[in-house]
Amino acid sequence: LVRLRARLARSQNSLGKGLLTLLSREHLDEDTWEEIEDTLLTADVGVAPTQELVDRLRERVKVLGTRTPEDLRTLLREELLTLLGTDFDREVKTEGGETVPGVVMVVGVNGTGKTTTTGKLARVLVADGKSVVLGAADTFRAAAADQLQTWGERVGARTVRGPEGGDPASIAFDAVKEGIAEGADVVLIDTAGRLHTKTGLMDELGKVKRVVEKHGPLDEILLVLDATTGQNGLVQARVFAEVVDITGIVLTKLDGTAKGGIVIAVQRELGVPVKLVGLGEGADDLAPFEPEAFVDALIG
Ligand code: GDP
Repeated sequence: LVRLRARLARSQNSLGKGLLTLLSREHLDEDTWEEIEDTLLTADVGVAPTQELVDRLRERVKVLGTRTPEDLRTLLREELLTLLGTDFDREVKTEGGETVPGVVMVVGVNGTGKTTTTGKLARVLVADGKSVVLGAADTFRAAAADQLQTWGERVGARTVRGPEGGDPASIAFDAVKEGIAEGADVVLIDTAGRLHTKTGLMDELGKVKRVVEKHGPLDEILLVLDATTGQNGLVQARVFAEVVDITGIVLTKLDGTAKGGIVIAVQRELGVPVKLVGLGEGADDLAPFEPEAFVDALIG
């Protein structure tokens, strides 16, 4: 976790440092406020949250009078935390039912890191003493099932898969059935994310969800979003949120961008908390999203 924090800090703190430098200027004139806005927009914070934050900062700086670096740091920290929301429940639920395992569906556009995230999450759960079954319901991307199975072998989770191009819903159904038969604690289902048409996606994910729910409750639908895709990623996220009820967001590739403001933007857009962040390609590079640690990484 310490290592992940360091990585997050390395990739993110240009935003916070930039803001603090601007706020420390002797004269906070209109040009400076505009620069502050630009800094936030460039970091993908989004228009409405940027406006809100700048309004709050203007108000509070006025009241502050003299601005010591420590005052500014505290103020910015508080306002960023307010924007991120400290009262979201960010835990990934895997309770399941009395005789059924916890079931987590992982959705998102291909290439965002869905399969990798499913593998990493399996590792976290196994390390936590849970037995995990993986369902390879991404039958569209040819290598996805192999990739998931490799993750499964690596972390010690069995993978249920079907024929290439097979029916994702029937694989999901089989995976949960297998999980029940084995008395597994958790079943993770990797799905296909081709955004061909919205109705196609809706049909497919809706069907996967329905068949899984024939066995029992579905604990989570996690949406995987690539942090490096910015506003474009947000548009895609919205489509998924219209199709299924997302319960949490996994923001991947935060190690590859300084635009961490996307955390704020996507939560605002979907009204759903970011629960996990991906900070690299390795097995250990998935971390719970902690607003305090994130803001500290931003401000440095
Ligand atoms: P899928 O098509 O959504 O299942 O995407 P994959 O899981 O195959 O991931 C696509 C690529 O992104 C792979 O090369 C992964 O190693 C990489 N990837 C996934 N998550 C992260 C992350 O958090 N950081 C970085 N740097 N790369 C990642």
